[in-house]
Amino acid sequence: MPACSFCHREACAFLAYMPRHFCPKHFREFFERRVRRTIREFGMLRGVGRLGIALSGGKDSLTVLSILAPIAREMHIELHAITVDEGIAGYRDKLVEVARQACGELGVPHHVVSCKKEIGFSVDEIVALKKRETSCSYCGVFRRWALNKKARELGLDKIATGHNLDDVAQTFLMNMLRNEPMRLARFSPNGGLVREDGFVDRIRPLFRIPEKEVALYALLAKLPVQFCECPHAHEAFRNEVRNFLNEVEARHPGTKFRVVSALLSVQRALAERTAMEPLGYCSLCGEPSAGGACRKCEMADTLSRALGKARN
Ligand code: SF4
Repeated sequence: MPACSFCHREACAFLAYMPRHFCPKHFREFFERRVRRTIREFGMLRGVGRLGIALSGGKDSLTVLSILAPIAREMHIELHAITVDEGIAGYRDKLVEVARQACGELGVPHHVVSCKKEIGFSVDEIVALKKRETSCSYCGVFRRWALNKKARELGLDKIATGHNLDDVAQTFLMNMLRNEPMRLARFSPNGGLVREDGFVDRIRPLFRIPEKEVALYALLAKLPVQFCECPHAHEAFRNEVRNFLNEVEARHPGTKFRVVSALLSVQRALAERTAMEPLGYCSLCGEPSAGGACRKCEMADTLSRALGKARN
């Protein structure tokens, strides 16, 4: 490996879009500077007194936790980590333990929310019911619902998530492919275009950083990362979109950055031209919802019926 472009140490990374070589020290400094700049540029922590971190226990959320913990101390922000346990044996239980240890080391209060306890179903049970939809469709809806409910109970102003550049580019493409433009309007680096009373805004401090760089940072910072994959990941539509984007990126470097720039441009245009309808509330559970009953309640109802049939 050639020398670092900023000192004489051996480089551990080459960022083609710079283009510069980085030794471990300069890579970590560059990484942290970018995250801090993103937080400042988008005013992500403006007016925040209590901040949540959606801590799955994976590399992205552990990275967010390790970078936000000192920033929160500097800004006198109270930090809480929330881990949603969807009930995936052999996978999530390991990551819940990783998350617990990481929070213990940093002195951050850690809250674990179980989908089984809150909603009545674990993802493993949903898989066993062999629904037509993938388990990921249920898992994503249940996780967001549980996270939002817990964040509100804790009185949090915002929730930081570990979404990186790859995740955001994938989400943008998935929304386009599914023709779900209003979801696009509600997904942004710093909350959606509409502020909802019952919905705790998300911030995404890593949204400009490619996934590979997050993985390298987590390794260099010696975060307790377990590189394990959910056993149901192969079912996810996201997986197909991820592979497609990776192939295009390999042939046309910079594609993911351009997709995320396009997302920001579309959102700016939407913000200027569209009067967004605020969300209502679910008639069953009272959480924010675009229709009568929210998707979590509709899905839980479908599962209850399927479970009843399976028992008969
Ligand atoms: Fe849930 Fe699917 Fe992600 Fe597994 S891959 S954690 S089932 S959304």
